[in-house]
Amino acid sequence: MSRHSEINDLLPFYLTGELGLEQSREVEEHLAACPQCQDSLALWKAIARPVRGAGAPPTPPAGLVSRSLAVARARRKPPLLPHWMAILRTQIPLVRREIWPASAAIMALGYLLALIAQNTGVIQLVAPLVAAACVALLYGPENDPAEELVLTTPTSPVQILLARLVLVFGYNLILACGASLGLSSFISLGALTAVIQSWLAPMTFLSACAVLLSLNLGSLNAIFITYMAWIGQFIAVKWIQSPELTGVYAPGEVAYLLQRYAAFWASSPLLFGLSAAILAVAFWSLRFQGARNTSLSS
Ligand SMILES: [Zn+2]
Repeated sequence: MSRHSEINDLLPFYLTGELGLEQSREVEEHLAACPQCQDSLALWKAIARPVRGAGAPPTPPAGLVSRSLAVARARRKPPLLPHWMAILRTQIPLVRREIWPASAAIMALGYLLALIAQNTGVIQLVAPLVAAACVALLYGPENDPAEELVLTTPTSPVQILLARLVLVFGYNLILACGASLGLSSFISLGALTAVIQSWLAPMTFLSACAVLLSLNLGSLNAIFITYMAWIGQFIAVKWIQSPELTGVYAPGEVAYLLQRYAAFWASSPLLFGLSAAILAVAFWSLRFQGARNTSLSS
């Protein structure tokens, strides 16, 4: 192979800068003295121009990138209210179906008893119990036949529990308010406020406890413990007010403890504060809930 044809073969590589320093210098030296290779190089350059043009990345229309990013961001963060309305809607059929008619029936029964006995204490007793039982049945494998399916949806367990809690607690709140307002035929407006106060904070607190306990001890244990706590309050109050009814006179220390217990349930700010703290722990414990279920099923 002659020096000329050797160099001629190297010209395309020379043009694209793929030759080493030594070879490039050789090509340049030969080029300076060989008009034929100069022509070849000119030809290669002419070919390279349109090829390079075709290989160049397409220039996007102005503003395309920022517009695409805006769309992607909007998709990632949907507007808060419609997003939550959608979650609430999807959770309604996933909550245990019997919760809705059962709590309505029990509250109606409580209302009738209160009306017949002309005693607002019935609503005070029943409202927290119904709400606690309902929220104890909200979440977890025993209450969610489709739990594995639920866990694969993009809605997080926290969002699911929160949505169900809002739905069911809100429903019970409306029922209890309705029953209390229905009592206004035989009590004054002031007494009505007192009736609502008598069950509102305990209902919130018992429900928060029921959520936390159901996640960690199961629904039935949660219902049992919260019922004992709330019914104990009524026994304590009765005991303090009229020991002759119970037939047992409490010794000093016991009477003091009973008084403290009754006072605890009567302190709304304390109960609301504790409810918030307990719910926070409940939602936090959900993280481990998921891990536990996965390890159980695997
Ligand atoms: Zn040449």
